[in-house]
Amino acid sequence: MRQLEFDFSNRYKILAEASGGKLTEEDVYNLETYGAKHPSEFAPDPADEPKPGYCVCGEKDCPDEYAHMTSGY
Ligand SMILES: [Zn+2]
Repeated sequence: MRQLEFDFSNRYKILAEASGGKLTEEDVYNLETYGAKHPSEFAPDPADEPKPGYCVCGEKDCPDEYAHMTSGY
């Protein structure tokens, strides 16, 4: 019964194979779970980082910039 191959434990393996080697099982899992191939795709885009002179909180010349930077905001 071919349908049995699609049980949960085989699902990512089968989808990975179906991708022709483009995706690993982990990629498939991440795509299904997070909607992206790698969790790193959710990391903040470097373009989103504050401009020079601006604090991570978005304020220019923020008096608490050091605290904001180091506290992780
Ligand atoms: Zn700040």
